Amino acid sequence: MKPVIRFRCQCGQRVRIETEYVGETVQCPTCLRSLVVPAPGAPGTEVIHPHAKAKGGAAAPGAGGNAPDPPQPVP
Ligand SMILES: [Zn+2]
Repeated sequence: MKPVIRFRCQCGQRVRIETEYVGETVQCPTCLRSLVVPAPGAPGTEVIHPHAKAKGGAAAPGAGGNAPDPPQPVP
């Protein structure tokens, strides 16, 4: 259970990904554009914490440990 960040692609597609991918490049599932995952708190982003419900906290990325491979590496 990790917090996820939600942001929007230029095509309007909403992308949701774990916050550990902030700064990584992912591919939009709809338009296949390369997207850099924005930092929590950036305009247009929303962080969803699986544990905390309806709390006002914006950014609280926990101490990340081992990070798996990014979902969609872009060449
Ligand atoms: Zn897109």
